[in-house]
Amino acid sequence: MAKTNEELVQRLWERNLIKNERVKKAFLETDRANFTPEEYIEKAYVDSPLSIGHGQTISAPHMVAMMTESLKLKESSKVMEIGTGSGYQAAILSKITEEGSIHTIERVKELYKQAKERLENYNNIQLYRSDGSLGIAEEAPFDRIISTCGIPELPRSWENQLKADGFILAPVGGSHHQRLKRYRKEQGETVEKDLNVPCAFVPMRGEDGF
Ligand code: SAH
Repeated sequence: MAKTNEELVQRLWERNLIKNERVKKAFLETDRANFTPEEYIEKAYVDSPLSIGHGQTISAPHMVAMMTESLKLKESSKVMEIGTGSGYQAAILSKITEEGSIHTIERVKELYKQAKERLENYNNIQLYRSDGSLGIAEEAPFDRIISTCGIPELPRSWENQLKADGFILAPVGGSHHQRLKRYRKEQGETVEKDLNVPCAFVPMRGEDGF
């Protein structure tokens, strides 16, 4: 079991889940313990999801690594994330897109507030408390859209808020059983690619509970 953040990152690197030097640096600069609730702190460097309360989880490091690699970010990328949760994924993305910005949406008030505090010193992250299925019209278009909650199908608003040469990465399927999919626009049509990664994200929920 990895005992430090550095060991965790080294293992992800050896397993070829982190491939890019910039992604590696972002993981090294983002200590997962800072995003782990106090009661699970001894598991911060274990490669598994952890509860963050409200029935939600901080994703497993290997999943964060795979999604981050799949995004193929540039330093200037403008990214929308749906499902801020602990803020861990957003923090990593922000380290890679130092000239760009991360716009991350959370619907659970408590998680939004906690993440806002944790990410206070990250100048290129903006947090929103709203329904992520609507996206963020006033900030569109985005180079990349990443969903860290499971969706049955792609919301139309995300397609509309994507740049012509951008893409969307999302776990698509039933609640807790999805496959990672990538959506690109080609000649005005949205083309789907199954990335062959089974996953189990908490489902995206609607307006109820606000
Ligand atoms: N990226 C997170 C993990 C996210 S878990 C991390 O790094 O820790 C999925 C998150 O999506 C949960 O926090 C959940 O509350 C949120 N969520 C669910 N439905 C949502 C919606 N409609 N809009 C915004 N966030 C939503």
